[in-house]
Amino acid sequence: MERTLALIKPDATARNLHGAILARIQEAGLRVVALKTLRLSPEQARGFYHVHRERPFFEDLVRFMTEGPIVAMVLEADGAIARWRDLMGPTDAAKAPKGTIRGDFGTDIERNACHGSDAPETAAFEVGFFFSGLELSGL
Ligand code: UDP
Ligand code: MG
Repeated sequence: MERTLALIKPDATARNLHGAILARIQEAGLRVVALKTLRLSPEQARGFYHVHRERPFFEDLVRFMTEGPIVAMVLEADGAIARWRDLMGPTDAAKAPKGTIRGDFGTDIERNACHGSDAPETAAFEVGFFFSGLELSGL
């Protein structure tokens, strides 16, 4: 069983889309192992996205990710990392196919409704960023 970190981003929570996104996750057979809502501080958002710190969009991304609450989840399934990224669709929501979460609920390349880890190593870092071992022993 593989685990991945999923975030529902502030654009989606502001539009009350987190229930619809959670339903898609569960319908796809991804098990929600842990779930919490929180609002990131700028320093926390910079830490989470540290791999992008040299990119021109970095500070805009930090502003976006701190503008409102997010939902953080750990999803578990065989192939959870790839399955969650398939369900999300490509980064640029303006180009993402209909039927994907980003295609249906996102706006553009920044405001794209959700996040998913891209590899086992990043999933391990990202799950640990949001959740303690104790929080992962529940559902
Ligand atoms: N992003 C952005 N401009 C870009 C590329 C990415 O604002 O040109 C934002 C977008 O919110 C994206 C996040 O930065 O989800 C992380 O980028 P990454 O390339 O890792 O895309 P993802 O893995 O989220 O599809
Ligand atoms: Mg990424």
